[in-house]
Amino acid sequence: MSAQQPYSFFHSVEQSFDKAAKFTKWDPGILEQIKACNAVYQIRFPIKRDDGSIEVIEAYRVQHSQHKSPCKGGIRFSDEVNQDEVMALASLMTYKCAIVNVPFGGAKGGLKINPRSYSTYELEKITRRYTSELVKKNFIGPGIDVPAPDYGTGEREMAWIVDTYQSLKPGEIDSAGCVTGKPVSLGGVRGRKEATGLGVFYGIREVCNMHEVMHGMGLPVGVEGKTIVVQGLGNVGYHTAKFFREHGSKVIALAEYEGAIYSADGLNEEEVFQHRKKTGSILNFPGATNLAKNTDALELECDILIPAALENVINAENAPRIKAKIIGEAANGPCTPEADEIFTKKRILCVPDMYLNAGGVTVSYFEWLKNLSHVRYGRLEKRFTENLNTHILAQIEGLTGKQVSDQERAFIKHGPDEVDLVYSGLEETMSAATREIMDIWHSNPEIPDMRTAAYVSAINKVATIYAELGIFP
Ligand code: NAD
Repeated sequence: MSAQQPYSFFHSVEQSFDKAAKFTKWDPGILEQIKACNAVYQIRFPIKRDDGSIEVIEAYRVQHSQHKSPCKGGIRFSDEVNQDEVMALASLMTYKCAIVNVPFGGAKGGLKINPRSYSTYELEKITRRYTSELVKKNFIGPGIDVPAPDYGTGEREMAWIVDTYQSLKPGEIDSAGCVTGKPVSLGGVRGRKEATGLGVFYGIREVCNMHEVMHGMGLPVGVEGKTIVVQGLGNVGYHTAKFFREHGSKVIALAEYEGAIYSADGLNEEEVFQHRKKTGSILNFPGATNLAKNTDALELECDILIPAALENVINAENAPRIKAKIIGEAANGPCTPEADEIFTKKRILCVPDMYLNAGGVTVSYFEWLKNLSHVRYGRLEKRFTENLNTHILAQIEGLTGKQVSDQERAFIKHGPDEVDLVYSGLEETMSAATREIMDIWHSNPEIPDMRTAAYVSAINKVATIYAELGIFP
């Protein structure tokens, strides 16, 4: 790309892809097909605003790959949305799903609106109209393309989408699976809200449990006692901080857009959240020190830095001052390619967004499966498991003549609820993906970083499907 051309997010994804493709042996035609966006649907439709004026809405749905069906990806409401961004995010979804073995192709949707500038009624009209445009062109459906929440959208919008879809497709038995991230009462799954933060925790914990990786960095094994800095106390940052604290790590600093706070003794994210709700700011939290600038938090001495707010926050300018040993990319694209180069030289381990924040799509997959099976997770086996465990325990106690404590008894007897199964499925997914990527990285000393290894993993999985389909005879 020449210096004159504007920055293209899609092009930068292609660059990362090409960097990794060198470490694979696939036919260039197959690689070309994987990179391409299969279908780009550009939509314009009018809505009548509350003041009676007519506004034309610019919207997109991009299906990057159908090597697996349906394809899947969130819908973003942001005034930054453009075709290039949606194409880039759709391709990242293909790679993300492949890495965590979620059997979907990649897609993404975007509406160029700032949701804060519209009334709830206007947003409902926009969301429903967008959904009906997708239905018209066969761009949505449980076996075709399944949207989800993304920046600027949440359960409410997903509820409007499923309701619109069902009214246009009466009698379609699996229609609840046309979108994920729904409220539980409309077919959503328990554990979806915290899924991304929990996935970030599971992914980093797996890295911290790798003896050779930790020894190589001069760190003790495990997350216990590790110092953590989190940028962004939104959905992902809040839950990431919560799971690290609950597992014995110390969250020494939190940053929000208005400032950052530090406490060597550790911060409790819920207390900070409540303080921010009450005072309107993260600053002046009792017992903590205010930092001069919110970005100062990124440069603190710590074991693990978690950017969970925005893209491009760690770049060529500040990367040389980063002192963290590990960076866990909870946000999408927080570190620039220039920062990556600096980390490689400084031997800072950057755990890439592409798989680390895949907890949301993984649990969306579980929601979709629940919708297709029409049964809540745990409904069939919970009581059976409890009866079996009670019986086994009684046998052991009878044979040994010893009794377990009440607490242990409750734990052993417990049959799985929906949330237990969702958490355990997510834990297995994130741990397995981490090990797969590390194995690829360590099997080839030429692969410069974990991000490139993650791309290699994605390319190999998608290319295998294309090759086996024999689409290039
Ligand atoms: P969110 O809006 O809930 O939270 C983001 C937080 O970052 C907000 O509290 C905001 O005030 C804060 N923030 C904004 N600018 C900041 C700054 N300069 N310094 C510090 N804090 C700042 O969003 P989220 O859902 O938590 O998403 C965060 C990131 O994670 C995004 O990059 C998103 O694309 C990515 N992500 C989210 C999910 C998900 O399931 N929510 C899944 C995958 C990736």
